[in-house]
Amino acid sequence: MTEVATSLQEEKESRKSSSRIPVAVLGATGSVGQRFVQLLEHHPWFRLQEVIASERSAGKPYGDAADWRLDTPLPPDVGSFVVRSLGAPIESRIVFSGLDSSVAGEAEDDYADRGCAVISNSRNHRLDPDVPLLIPEINADHLQALETQRKRRKGKGYIVTNPNCSTVGLAMAMAPIERQHGIESLHVSTMQAISGAGYAGVPSFAILDNVIPFISGEEEKIEREPLRILGRWDNGFHDVQIRISAQTNRVPVLDGHLLCISLGFRNREDLRRHFTIEALIEDVISGLENFEGEPQQRGLPSAPAHPIVVMRENDRPQPRLDRERENGMSVTVGRIRPCPILDVRMVALVHNTIRGAAGAAILNAELLKARGMLPD
Ligand code: NAP
Repeated sequence: MTEVATSLQEEKESRKSSSRIPVAVLGATGSVGQRFVQLLEHHPWFRLQEVIASERSAGKPYGDAADWRLDTPLPPDVGSFVVRSLGAPIESRIVFSGLDSSVAGEAEDDYADRGCAVISNSRNHRLDPDVPLLIPEINADHLQALETQRKRRKGKGYIVTNPNCSTVGLAMAMAPIERQHGIESLHVSTMQAISGAGYAGVPSFAILDNVIPFISGEEEKIEREPLRILGRWDNGFHDVQIRISAQTNRVPVLDGHLLCISLGFRNREDLRRHFTIEALIEDVISGLENFEGEPQQRGLPSAPAHPIVVMRENDRPQPRLDRERENGMSVTVGRIRPCPILDVRMVALVHNTIRGAAGAAILNAELLKARGMLPD
């Protein structure tokens, strides 16, 4: 490149970066926080401006406070950002939260009351009566709840949450089937990656050569959150009626939660009278393959072209091979076949820190921007 072309390119880059919306990340040093930093580096609409973490990290350059563990280099400019403590004044009006749940509840309320749009990964506000629990492909209409929430806060700020990381994979796989045929009951067993346990994770001595059949609070979230997500907003949230039973396991995989799902249709007698199980399975497959929503229709920057990718190979999806599909934003579903106890069974895979956390929150913020719902 000539000198003139280089300086034009630099000017273009700097114009592009100054027009991007400044954002802050709460809990920026953690497993989800690092993923935010990575995904925001080249984001076309948002620019990372502020990083916030605990007193342990506050006052240090981010590069020293965060033990960077992702497989792309730490963005050099972010490495020199000084980490702020929770509650410190910030300039950004858009706040992504990857805070530990012990502090997220109060801190997120505080930033929302100050007029910020808080897009959270933590469990604390997911089931509040006026807080959307959002998967934009499924329930973008739940954003109507923000009108009620803003009135409560008497300002422009609000909280929007994304679901538990396993719930995202489960709800995505359920949505087209619930819409096509209705689901009456569902059983899911998960095999969840170590990065889902946060930066401190699980000690290697506990997880190597092992499976741990308990993740605190996880089964309750997986059984409850899809009901809100697949339900409707009508001046209040109305849950869908589905019986869900979840069993969760921690396995020695770095990223990517795998879910083995069996489900029964709501009108199973009727359906079985009119269709063969093979025809129903084909119908389920095409519903999953053709599933899309507002992010695809609007062409949002982080929207995967195919929110659900169906694989027909007998031994897929697999975490190591399939978690990065569409930059980690697609849920991969395979092994769709009849279930001898319920009706249909399948395996789903979700990248827990991308589609299950930071990537999902960024997609939520993109939808809010596209709908003109971000505070100035
Ligand atoms: P993590 O690795 O343990 O990170 C927690 C973050 O919170 C760190 O930045 C930590 O800062 C900060 N923090 C902890 N105590 C604090 C305090 N008293 N004041 C201010 N900041 C504090 O956890 P994570 O896995 O990233 O999860 C973050 C949140 O996302 C959790 O609520 C989790 O349930 C949720 N989530 C996680 C995943 C996943 O796959 N990991 C997926 C979906 C949702 P320091 O480094 O300074 O301590």
